[in-house]
Amino acid sequence: MRQGHSLPPLTGRRIAVRALIGLHEALLGRRTLSLARQLEQTQWLPERALRAMQLEKLRALISHASTHCPYYRALSLPMVDCFRTVNDLLHVPLLTRAELRRNAAEMRWARMPGRFLTDHTHGTSDESFAFYCDRSRQAWDKALRLRGHRWHGFEPGDRELHLWPIDPPRNRSARLRQWLRHRRDALVAEMQIDSLQVTKEDVREFWRRWAEFAPTRVTAYPSALAEMILEGHRLGCQMASTSVRRIFLTGEVTFDWQRRLIEDLLQAEVTESYGLQEAGAIAFCCEAGSWHTSDEAFVVEILRDGHPAASGEWGELVVTCLESRAMPLVRYCTGDIVRAQHLGGCDCGRGLARIPPIVGRSSDFLESADGRWIPPAEVVATLGAVLDDGAWQLRQTDEGDVTLDVIADGRHHRVAREQARLLLQRLLGRGMACTVRPVSALRRTSFGKRRYIESLRTRRGLALPREIDDGSERCPTARNPT
Ligand SMILES: [Zn+2]
Repeated sequence: MRQGHSLPPLTGRRIAVRALIGLHEALLGRRTLSLARQLEQTQWLPERALRAMQLEKLRALISHASTHCPYYRALSLPMVDCFRTVNDLLHVPLLTRAELRRNAAEMRWARMPGRFLTDHTHGTSDESFAFYCDRSRQAWDKALRLRGHRWHGFEPGDRELHLWPIDPPRNRSARLRQWLRHRRDALVAEMQIDSLQVTKEDVREFWRRWAEFAPTRVTAYPSALAEMILEGHRLGCQMASTSVRRIFLTGEVTFDWQRRLIEDLLQAEVTESYGLQEAGAIAFCCEAGSWHTSDEAFVVEILRDGHPAASGEWGELVVTCLESRAMPLVRYCTGDIVRAQHLGGCDCGRGLARIPPIVGRSSDFLESADGRWIPPAEVVATLGAVLDDGAWQLRQTDEGDVTLDVIADGRHHRVAREQARLLLQRLLGRGMACTVRPVSALRRTSFGKRRYIESLRTRRGLALPREIDDGSERCPTARNPT
């Protein structure tokens, strides 16, 4: 059964905007719109056909990486013929974030025609690192995003506001590119607001610009948008508008309180998507509420201790980017955690695989004294009994001890802080020290995200086999499956 929102009619303005976007993409050497048309067809393919497509692309990727990229050549990947199904990826070593950070230059296509595009991650942690891509990868990301938005009735040209961090231009040519991007955004009805530049003092101006632009959709980091709403609400800003139909949240896991806040005060529906800058647009939520992976461009595994996680277990998402040639990523450990479960077909009727909702990054989990991983939502619900949402931050050391910082601006007096400490201690169990500190402000990462929970004890993730010491080391080369 094919569901879906009815798309808005093609008015003259829409046709003009689409032509402009097509021209812009062609000038940059990106075949975004033709890919988007292909993706409209392939999403309905049966699962078997999609797996066959993935296998063919996987073989091409392995052949490319083994031939052209020094890092993968040295790794002695299995021969292409050894891949009889995508599950044969299990014989390829895992790639950790630390390994990628150390070897990014060696992972590149050594003699790539054209030029590399260098970018830096805006991860949830402060550890930014460089990665490389090309126009083709950019086109895939854009086309996948167009499809994900189309599932909710949006077309190119529907007014879109972005609230996320923007790298400050470092030289004259970067300033020129930024100026050109602003001109392009104006032509195609988009507006970017740099979440790093919006301070508490700018909140009124932020909501004024929002109202003036009148977006029909907004793409934002949940923590940045939630803060704008909380502060705007406190200042009495007019926030709800009739223009906004949907908020697309990305870049972080959305807590329930953030979702409720956004939906209640903006009077708009919320949808999430999942991607990594270094990997691309990995999954989108469909109109039936399922997370569908972008099967045409990724193989997604859920691993625990080097094996597929069993149903009911926590597992880490591991991705292989099938359309990434400038810097291939094969079995990249994302650090993002889901509860593994068998998921059948979706009511929307698409053949694209489904994944369970992402619960958090591994370091968003706490580990209790008896080794249990405590999901961030459970920590939030526990502390929410005595503390205000978004008014605390906690950090767990490698040894397991926890420090809870609590905003004490007339709220959260000593009794509430002591109650929070006792609740936290009960959650963690004996043997792990809990300390509560009153603070006047919470920390933000240098990329504008607010991390409410950060554990050094769980940051290693779950995908790597336990015997491999430290997530910063690559697994030994796997045996050849033949
Ligand atoms: Zn669906």
